[in-house]
Amino acid sequence: MSATTIKKMSVRDLQVTGKRVFVRVDFNVPLDGGRVADDTRIRASLPTLQWILRNQGTPILASHLGRPKGKPNPAYSLLQVVERLRALLGSEVRFANDCVGEEAERASRSLAPGEALLVENLRFHAGEEKNDPVFAENLARLADSYVNDAFGSAHRAHASVAAICAHFHPATAGLLMEREINYLGGLLGAPSRPYVAILGGAKVADKVGLVKNLLPRVNAILIGGAMAYTFLAARGVGVGASRVESESLPMAAGILDAAAAAGVKLLLPVDHRVSASLTNPGEGEIVSGEVIPEGLLGLDIGPKTCEAFAREIALAGTVLWNGPVGLFEQPPFHLGSLAVAEAVAASKALSVAGGGDTAAALASFSLAEKFSHVSTGGGASLEFLSGLTLPGVASLTDRS
Ligand code: AMP
Repeated sequence: MSATTIKKMSVRDLQVTGKRVFVRVDFNVPLDGGRVADDTRIRASLPTLQWILRNQGTPILASHLGRPKGKPNPAYSLLQVVERLRALLGSEVRFANDCVGEEAERASRSLAPGEALLVENLRFHAGEEKNDPVFAENLARLADSYVNDAFGSAHRAHASVAAICAHFHPATAGLLMEREINYLGGLLGAPSRPYVAILGGAKVADKVGLVKNLLPRVNAILIGGAMAYTFLAARGVGVGASRVESESLPMAAGILDAAAAAGVKLLLPVDHRVSASLTNPGEGEIVSGEVIPEGLLGLDIGPKTCEAFAREIALAGTVLWNGPVGLFEQPPFHLGSLAVAEAVAASKALSVAGGGDTAAALASFSLAEKFSHVSTGGGASLEFLSGLTLPGVASLTDRS
């Protein structure tokens, strides 16, 4: 399957030569002692920034970092990101101590060709999270054109991704945003079949919208992770001391019925890797049947389940994976997620992974590059695939 064609205007539609281009990036990176601990998000923005620089535009970069609650706070200053950005971009990056106002506006006009400007944390102003039109207008003064490349922030109606778009025509998607919409949109469009969704993670309640939106579209759903025990319990299977969301039991039973009615194959674990303790899980023993004995917790799918999941994945034309199928941070409870990742890596299917934990698991297995696409947005990809409208996507100008 090829990803569906984007219906939003793109940075590539802009004439950027000699123009200041506002780029909303997602530099909400983990820090360690004032240094960038993981630069994945900065790297993800490079294609858009390099495109603008190559075409002789000047990028004006804006982002949030952490939760400073509408007030300046040095712990969340984007100044901590500049050095790494300079090194990765290989260009001079200037810094403005505020994202709006005279200093930032002056700085935006005084850049030499080939330079970029990073402005201070958007969330130092309460207007950002309030989607305040006056704050958005002040941000818009920094540039001639607008690009949103912060897919990870697209599910929030904040000024820099929503209200600001009223000041630019077109309001465009950056290359990362475009890629995210293409791949995730493709999963909701006409994917190659069989279409297999692998769902895991801890909380069932968080995934209800996703499961409901996927059911009419997929051929098979493979459920692992802690959420599988709520589904097994809904079928009356004993799950010992495993995590069960009792309030989600009726909903899980409804999904099992709906899958059967729609002819969607729904696979639950047929064996488990268990422990008597979540805090001190030890080596984990295998329970070779569906039923988990009293006092034991299921913390990963077992080897027979790994094989069953791998068989479905091997046949797939399209695979979506959202949520680790076990407590992957704690070996050996990573083995189920590793088996899933290896099965996807070995398949010819178009493969998309979504969710922060799934991306972290893939990175720890060094298998991320074997996927067609690993989404950079946790909450945003979940909302997109649940069929919700993302304010930061809806505000971009339609191509027609
Ligand atoms: P979520 O945020 O709902 O996608 O959940 C992701 C988290 O679920 C990760 O930290 C996993 O380690 C955890 N997880 C997955 N399977 C299990 C399990 N069987 N028991 C406890 N935690 C799990």
